[in-house]
Amino acid sequence: MSQKWTYSFGGGAAEGRSTMRNLLGGKGANLHEMSAIGLSVPPGFTLTTEVCTHFVASKGDYPDGLNDQVNAAIAKLETIMGAPFGGGADEGKVLLLSVRSGARASMPGMMDTVLNLGLNDEAVEILAAETGDGRFAYDSYRRFVQMFGDVVLGVDHYHFEDLLEDYKLDHALTLDTDLTVDDWKALLPKYIGAIEKQTGNPFPQDPRQQLWAAIGAVFHSWTNKRAQTYRMLHDISDEWGTAVNVQAMVFGNMGDDSATGVCFTRNPSTGENMFYGEYLVNAQGEDVVAGIRTPQPLSNSEKERSSLHLPSLEELMPKLYAELDDVRHALERHYSDMQDMEFTIQKGKLWILQTRGGKRTTKAALKIAVDMVSEGLIDSNEAIRRIEPSHLDQLLHPTLDPKAPRDILGQGLPASPGAAFGKLVFTAKAAEEWAERGEAVILARVETSPEDISGMHVSKGIITTRGGMTSHAAVVARGMGKPCISGMGDITVNVKDKTLTAMGVVLKEGDLVTVDGSAGQLMRGTVPTVEPEFSGDFGTLMGWADQVRRLGVRANAETPTDAKVARGFGAQGIGLARTEHMFFDPERIIHMREMILASDEQARRVALDKLLPYQRQDFSQLLSIMEGLPVTIRLLDPPLHEFLPDQPADIENVAKALGVSAEDIIRRSKDLHEFNPMLGHRGCRLAITYPEIYEMQTRAIFEAAADLVKSGHTIYPEVMIPLVADREELTRLKALVVKTADAVLAEQGVELSYHVGTMIELPRAALQAGEIAKDAEFFSFGTNDLTQTTYGLSRDDAGRFLQIYREKGVMQFDPFVTIDQAGVGELVKIGTERGRAERPGLKVGICGEHGGDPASIHFCHDTGLDYVSCSPYRVPIARLAAAQAALGGDVKTNA
Ligand code: PEP
Ligand code: MG
Repeated sequence: MSQKWTYSFGGGAAEGRSTMRNLLGGKGANLHEMSAIGLSVPPGFTLTTEVCTHFVASKGDYPDGLNDQVNAAIAKLETIMGAPFGGGADEGKVLLLSVRSGARASMPGMMDTVLNLGLNDEAVEILAAETGDGRFAYDSYRRFVQMFGDVVLGVDHYHFEDLLEDYKLDHALTLDTDLTVDDWKALLPKYIGAIEKQTGNPFPQDPRQQLWAAIGAVFHSWTNKRAQTYRMLHDISDEWGTAVNVQAMVFGNMGDDSATGVCFTRNPSTGENMFYGEYLVNAQGEDVVAGIRTPQPLSNSEKERSSLHLPSLEELMPKLYAELDDVRHALERHYSDMQDMEFTIQKGKLWILQTRGGKRTTKAALKIAVDMVSEGLIDSNEAIRRIEPSHLDQLLHPTLDPKAPRDILGQGLPASPGAAFGKLVFTAKAAEEWAERGEAVILARVETSPEDISGMHVSKGIITTRGGMTSHAAVVARGMGKPCISGMGDITVNVKDKTLTAMGVVLKEGDLVTVDGSAGQLMRGTVPTVEPEFSGDFGTLMGWADQVRRLGVRANAETPTDAKVARGFGAQGIGLARTEHMFFDPERIIHMREMILASDEQARRVALDKLLPYQRQDFSQLLSIMEGLPVTIRLLDPPLHEFLPDQPADIENVAKALGVSAEDIIRRSKDLHEFNPMLGHRGCRLAITYPEIYEMQTRAIFEAAADLVKSGHTIYPEVMIPLVADREELTRLKALVVKTADAVLAEQGVELSYHVGTMIELPRAALQAGEIAKDAEFFSFGTNDLTQTTYGLSRDDAGRFLQIYREKGVMQFDPFVTIDQAGVGELVKIGTERGRAERPGLKVGICGEHGGDPASIHFCHDTGLDYVSCSPYRVPIARLAAAQAALGGDVKTNA
């Protein structure tokens, strides 16, 4: 016997089940499932995805045995429906079919559908007689001719629409519904004539010929450009193929006792447990979505909320509504999830055409998951699996009103989520001046540097034309919870002229723009925003997540505001406080510059002494906000030139303030210039040459700590040394830190246990982790630098061409966003293993941007890391992703 290529369903039975979605496609699998559980589904059969694979591989051939199986399946259908396919004059009845695609993953609108198939010049007469409605029969026939012409034969729909418009003009008719049976009868030969003219062939009257042509067209549509692009964007494999569902037609347009509609078993935007949907009386499915007639609300409660006062289905057809409501409950119980259904009522009989997991907002997803646990439909672990962690972002930031129109100026990388509008400014200084006057500003830069921090702080949103997802702007904006678009290569920012040029439009300083950091879109003017809401469901779900996760979640934060936000979001400490961000305040930067420009150690120490009180205050705040939790403070990391002024006016000011000449500053800047500063004099290398810098920072940490301990606080400071490549660097710097810390504690008469550890952010450090662990009391993987140095790819510039790599399929993901498990991940594994082999139980975390990326968090869980550290607004995302990782398995959905 040949392989089974078709699976029949209907009449209370089915050959397939919902578990067979790979073979039958999502739509097909659910049609089989609904038939099997006794719902009234128009009978039909599914041609499997394997037929598609065969069809594509053989360039249009069908497998042996398919023809016989299709004939047998049609015969079964004819028996159930009591009508012959294509009509029988003797029976006075006609069976018409729909032919629809249905892939394993939903691909809405990407592939083709043909309805009313089987009509021809004879069958239309039988249909007219059978239904007693000539107008309906001829309207159905012309719809079929147009759809078949368009979808199967490639005759563009405007040919038919033009004919219809001309006819209406000639006969002074306005609406389609004004056309009588005679009008459609007169139009049909014109439609058929158009097909014959365009294709050079007669319109096929033979129903089986129509059927095979339609099946071929659907399979063929799997390879059309639109579908290919959609698959690429949604990670759907070309190999999967689509199934084809052939089903008996039922009609919602057979009069006032017929209707058709779409519905959700719960409200998809709020998640409320109410029946939610729309329908039209005497209409076909396409009319509901076409927007020509205003659909009516399904239930009375929806009607009450709407201002349109259209009759609900509950009012008009109460018995059928009750039946539909029963189906709603049955489907929810069966699938344990909110469903999106389509139905048709044909002459008082209800048919269910489709069900699938309903798309929903994150707010609705949370409510539905939490409600379903209390209703006993799912358990809390399943609720955790139901929420896509990255979608939580939608709840944590203001978002643009989805209903508001957008005048889009450009697209870049969605570097930091949220939305904001404000007036354009082009320098950090201007941002501060405008903000001082109470203006909301959006800062536009080519890229940002630490010098821009205070300007960024007062801006509502940030855009940069260069840089990727881990550029300075992106990292800082995410930390601040501000929307940011980076890498907007198509727009030009001219700081000198204070202009931004996008799509031929030139905007000036002060012009209003809106930033959508979640979509990476810049808009002209203002688009209204909606504020985030933290419902109780959010807290409930997070509580469940915390119970199952193994990974700790800390935050990257160095300002009191960020630390508070992080703690509020449930961070279990700080995993990375970047101390360099603490030196840009105008009061402090001057001392920092003095330190950098100093000609000898003694002069450097004088300047460092002035910075010490500021640092002490910073650390005191962080440690007390995170009372009872660990705070990892990273000592100074970036190359020093980042702190020096580069604009002539700034150089003058600094020179004046420090009592040196502008030339001195320029000369010193030149001395500090490096060709590859990211690979240069930075990180621990700064302290090997100038130990007094780390000495001052350590002193500040432990003076702050000692004060807090004396006033009864419980604190856990951790000192972290960056960019270590060799154990010797750490040995020396740890000795310096311990000596300084112990001296301060002794001076203050305080006992405090603390830890000194290191970042592992260079390949050599990962390989030498065993040696390094002899000194390091903890590791934190700095996967931003580790990715940069493993790939030899600049984290600040790569965004410009990585996009092209992705488009060309050279790279499937951005390694600065999602950890590259094959390379960088391998180093993380090696580093962890070697470190723990030397020092059993070594605490290991990650504090690169990957610490907030769900896929990378799964990797960290699997690799046995102790914690991830991420920007404050990602803390809830990380808590949920860590819980999902602990639960294992794929996220379940029948969408
Ligand atoms: C890293 O390199 O991953 C890291 C966290 O440090 P930074 O981003 O500050 O270089
Ligand atoms: Mg780093």
